[in-house]
Amino acid sequence: MAATDICTRCNGAPEDLLHTLRDCPKAKGIWLKLVHPGKWHIFFSASRLNWLTINLSSNLGFSGNDWDVVFANACWFIWRMRNAEIFYGSRVSYDDPVIAILKLSSDSIRPMNKSIVGGSRIGPSVNRFICWNKPEKGWVKFNVDGVRKDSLSLTACGGLARDSEGRFLTGFVHKLGDGTVLNAELWSMLSALEVARCAGFKKVVIESDCLTAVKLVNDSVQAMHPCSTILS
Ligand SMILES: [Zn+2]
Repeated sequence: MAATDICTRCNGAPEDLLHTLRDCPKAKGIWLKLVHPGKWHIFFSASRLNWLTINLSSNLGFSGNDWDVVFANACWFIWRMRNAEIFYGSRVSYDDPVIAILKLSSDSIRPMNKSIVGGSRIGPSVNRFICWNKPEKGWVKFNVDGVRKDSLSLTACGGLARDSEGRFLTGFVHKLGDGTVLNAELWSMLSALEVARCAGFKKVVIESDCLTAVKLVNDSVQAMHPCSTILS
């Protein structure tokens, strides 16, 4: 964890979500080529939540683009570029991020269009805005995750706890060695419980993005299951 919140890529501002994804010069250079010049004033002035809502509901790009797809891919690409630069330094270089983002977007639009039969999508389409929800008053929410890096045969887990106002309380990261990603997901939940006990949190919610892990925790698991040691 860094000693300061200043963006190490530009040293120009605290590295919050909007700076990382939009305002950092490294990101802005990409957006200036993707966003229509007539929409720059909206795009670069919106507050965080508005920025996400506007971009997912209207076209700020050039005509012929599925802007919500381009926008999502660009955010993901910029986030990956940022991580690659910070964690791998000068070893990572991209020829042209804008072309890469547009290619990524057209590649993901094609399979989406395959689900359209006779002009209408299979099943009803529902627009849903997904965001983090605060826990109820008096409760603490842990968001946890587990990862595996195949090339290093390493797994790790981490999590952070926030209160009912969304304030950061504590966090953890653990290097776990070789194993499955499911194992790492389960370790993230177990670690959250241990951190909660040490911190004296009595009412705790643990949120994971791994449905399999959540089901394993909620259902009774047989002793034969490879993850039974953690689950017990
Ligand atoms: Zn920056």
